[in-house]
Amino acid sequence: MKSIRTVLVTGGTGYIGSHTCFYLMEQGYKVIVIDSLVNSSVKSLERIKDILKKNNNRDLISLEFFEGSLNNKEFVDYVFHQALNKGNKIDAVIHFAGFKSVKESVQNPYLYWQNNVIGTINLVSVMNKYICNKIVFSSSATIYNANNIDLISEKNEIGPINPYGNTKRANEIFLSDIYKSDKQKWGVINLRYFNPIGAHPSGLIGESPKGIPNNIFPIIMNIAFEKKQSLEVFGKDWPTKDGTCIRDYIHITDLAKGHIKALEFMKKKDSTNLCINLGTGKGTSVLELIRIFEDTNKLKLNYNFSSRRDGDAPIVVADNSLAKKILNWVPEKSISEMCKDGWNWKLKNPNGY
Ligand code: NAD
Repeated sequence: MKSIRTVLVTGGTGYIGSHTCFYLMEQGYKVIVIDSLVNSSVKSLERIKDILKKNNNRDLISLEFFEGSLNNKEFVDYVFHQALNKGNKIDAVIHFAGFKSVKESVQNPYLYWQNNVIGTINLVSVMNKYICNKIVFSSSATIYNANNIDLISEKNEIGPINPYGNTKRANEIFLSDIYKSDKQKWGVINLRYFNPIGAHPSGLIGESPKGIPNNIFPIIMNIAFEKKQSLEVFGKDWPTKDGTCIRDYIHITDLAKGHIKALEFMKKKDSTNLCINLGTGKGTSVLELIRIFEDTNKLKLNYNFSSRRDGDAPIVVADNSLAKKILNWVPEKSISEMCKDGWNWKLKNPNGY
C-alpha cells in the first residue's frame, strides 16, 4: 500500500479545487496549491482555513500556495523542488487547472489547447522527474456523445463536439499513454464530472468566476439576486417531460469528496488507469431546477424561452454505478440542498470573494 501524505492541487483556488482542498485537509492531507488566479481568488484558501478554524480543526491546516501557470514548466519544477527540500515530497496530484468555457473554446481553440493540454504535459513530465506518479484529472461529461436518452456510462461512445471537450479527451488519452509506458508505476484516474452546483454549507466558499458566468446555476443566482434580468431557457420543445433540457446536477461537496475517494483507491493499488463518472444518476430539467430553487429559497425567478442552442443534448445524466462500486462513493445531497447552499453563498458574497 502506497502512502499519500502530500497532495499538489493544481487550480486549487478555483470552484471545485477549493472545496476539494478543504476536504483534503479535513482528512489530514498536506496540501500544496498551484494556481495562476486567472479565474479565481486566493481568498478562497483563507476561507478554507477559516472553516477549519471554526470547526476546531486548526491543527489540520497545512496549506501552501504558489501563484503561477502550468504553462511555465520551470515554475512547476520549482514547486516540486521546494516541496522536496522541505521534506514534503509531493505524493499525488489532483489536476483541476484549466479553462472551462465551451463558448470561449470555440472562439479561441489555440488558447484552450495551449492551456489545457500543454499545461498537463508540463505537469506530468515534472511529476515523472520527481517520481510522483499518481494523478486524478478533472475530466468532463462533455466528452461523451450524448445523443441518446439512456444513463451515460463510462462505456458510452466518446464524441466531444467542441474544443473544450476535445482538450479534456486529449488529456485522458495522453494520461492513458503515460500509464501504458510504465503500468506498474502510474496511477491515473480521470473523473468525468456532470454538473456541479451549490457551495459549502458554511457559505464561506463557493463559485466565484471572473467575468460573466457561463453555467446555468451562477446565472440563476445572479438573476435572483439582482431581480433585473430574466433567465434565458434554451428550447422548450426537447423530447423531455416538460420540454426543457435535463442535466445531472451534483452538490459541489459530494463532487469534492469523490476526489478523496479516488486518492484512497490509488493508495490501495499500485497500478490504475480508470475513467469514472461523478454524477448523481438523477436528471433534473431546467424548469424543475427553477421551481426547486424558488421553493427552497422562497423567491421568484424571471425566465423566458428562446430557441434551442447548437450543441445541446436533451438529456445528460450519469450512470454512477462504477464510482459507487470502485470508489465506494455515494452522492448524498438533494437538488434542494444544492439550491439552499448556493443561495446562502450568494447572499453572503454577492460579488464573490
Ligand atoms: P475554475 O475556473 O473555478 O477553476 C480552475 C482553476 O484553474 C482556476 O482557479 C484558474 O485560475 C486555474 N487555472 C487555469 N489555467 C491555469 C494554468 N495554466 N495554471 C494554473 N492555474 C490555472 O473551474 P472549476 O469549475 O473549479 O473546474 C475545475 C476543473 O474541472 C476544470 O479543469 C474544468 O474544466 C473541470 N470541470 C468543471 C466542470 C464544472 O461544471 N465546473 C465540469 C466538468 C469539468
